Amino acid sequence: MTANDYYQTNTQGHLIIGGVDALELAKKFGTPLVVYDVQKIKRQFQAFQNAFEKEQVDYAISYASKAFATMAIYQVINKLGGHIDVVSGGELFTALKAGFPAAKISFHGNNKTPDELLMAVQNHVGVIILDNFTEIKLLKRILKQTNTRVQVMLRVTPGVSAHTHEYDQTGQEDSKFGFDIRSGQAEQAFLQVKANPQMELIGLHAHIGSQILAAEGFKLEVEKLLKLVNDWKQKYDYQPRVLNLGGGFGIRYTAQDDTLTAQTFISQIVQKVKKCAQASHLKMPAIWIEPGRSIVGEAGYNLYTIGARKEVPGLLPYVAVDGGMGDNIRPALYQAEYEAVLAEKPHAEPVETVRLAGRYCESGDIIINKLALPKSKPGDVIAVLATGAYGYSMAANYNRVPRPAVVFAENGQAQVVVTRETYADIVSHDRFYQMEG
Ligand SMILES: *Cc1c(COP(=O)(O)O)cnc(C)c1O
Repeated sequence: MTANDYYQTNTQGHLIIGGVDALELAKKFGTPLVVYDVQKIKRQFQAFQNAFEKEQVDYAISYASKAFATMAIYQVINKLGGHIDVVSGGELFTALKAGFPAAKISFHGNNKTPDELLMAVQNHVGVIILDNFTEIKLLKRILKQTNTRVQVMLRVTPGVSAHTHEYDQTGQEDSKFGFDIRSGQAEQAFLQVKANPQMELIGLHAHIGSQILAAEGFKLEVEKLLKLVNDWKQKYDYQPRVLNLGGGFGIRYTAQDDTLTAQTFISQIVQKVKKCAQASHLKMPAIWIEPGRSIVGEAGYNLYTIGARKEVPGLLPYVAVDGGMGDNIRPALYQAEYEAVLAEKPHAEPVETVRLAGRYCESGDIIINKLALPKSKPGDVIAVLATGAYGYSMAANYNRVPRPAVVFAENGQAQVVVTRETYADIVSHDRFYQMEG
């Protein structure tokens, strides 16, 4: 797919998002602005659903909401029949506020606090995904105090980690998450959980990486998990109802990202599970996945207004915009790459290469290092593409810049789903220091 099929334009040649002219969005709601094409989110979710339906297996698609966690997205995922993952009390609170059914929430994290675990238990979340021995002890205490039962999964580290097209296979995985399989931690955790009548162990969980562009790593993950399941069947006559294979499905940020469709990922994964399960005479488990980035990433656009331009003899000119690392930390944090187009004329031929700079006081606040652009001038609106995952959700108030508004656009209509922060919001938690004298 080229960048040209990747966005749409109206008869005036302007970029449209969810059927709404991006220039009008910028004018009406101001910039910087985060805009989601809601149909794209739905289509992506449904692509995963359709892929599972084709394979005729029990499944759940649990949107990993740390990618973008607001009440509006929880509403959309709920409407689509999905589950969600949360990783904090704040995400859990937001989801419950949005009316998301607690029973379809999985709670993740390598250091859930006692308060967060209590909150999860009291609100009857569907699954707590246990990450370490401290947590097993803590949860045990909370369940005893509250006289409750809860479904749990064990997060294990299978010794597979995948990035883009490659995967690494190691013995123990050096990760802060989960119980290591090879050293026997996973088995020890299994025995502790099975011994507790207030914990119902429904399955195993693993997550091998992010922005994965090939299915091999997932297949190896399946092999390792089903080998473990087979061991536990032989030794303990236990078989998990659910195999949760995590997320990490890659998306297209730039032309370099050669993505797989949801259909390809899911059919390869499910077929591998079927094959391994048959070979060991295991009951076919339900398969859960946790896509985050792939649900919301390509549906998001960051709109900025171009301001200052700085020429440096012999080097690329800097074109600065009114946002940057405060609303999208990914370029500064891990050299993430993006494409961008002028909202007024995305199809216009580029005439120069520029560095698209943010407005924050950090030299590293460069949104795109080499961007081919048509002639641009201060006041032009530029759209950075595929910013929907880990952009707004990582937004911060560095330099005391208010965080942008978020708009959902669908069928030619646009609605604010998060209002723009004001300067009053920025100081709302500040308190005067009562100085002596
Ligand atoms: C972050 C995370 C995901 C989602 O990863 P994506 O790359 O956004 O799909 C899924 N599962 C777990 C446990 C995670 O930590």
